[in-house]
Amino acid sequence: MELVSDCLFCRIIEGNIPADIVFRNDNVVAFRDITPQAPTHILLIPTVHVENAAALANLSPTLISELMIAAGDIASQQGLEGYRTVFNTGSSAGQSVFHAHLHLLGGRPFAWPPG
Ligand code: 5GP
Ligand code: ZN
Repeated sequence: MELVSDCLFCRIIEGNIPADIVFRNDNVVAFRDITPQAPTHILLIPTVHVENAAALANLSPTLISELMIAAGDIASQQGLEGYRTVFNTGSSAGQSVFHAHLHLLGGRPFAWPPG
């Protein structure tokens, strides 16, 4: 699927909505979350529009791996020793934007189980 004009994250990829982009290549864009839940809170998204992580994994196991690899690289660049990566899938799990995205959170301790 290509970019979707009414998708917030597709619009960020296109540059139609400003974002604090920390990494970008042909397949992955990473930018700071507008409502950070930790001192470092970055969203990593595929440049193709796909609804959630499961659909992304089915579309391209390579691409979902690229998100995880980029998250690790960015965590190192940001000096994060420990960090949390999260895909929320479905509104009951807290997904509010239906373009797959990996949350990268760090810079504070995290509780388990998550809320
Ligand atoms: P979800 O709740 O779908 O797992 O995560 C969506 C995330 O997108 C939320 O953490 C929310 O703060 C973030 N977000 C929503 N709108 C914008 C925006 O316009 N710009 C940025 N940078 N992040 C956004
Ligand atoms: Zn999209």
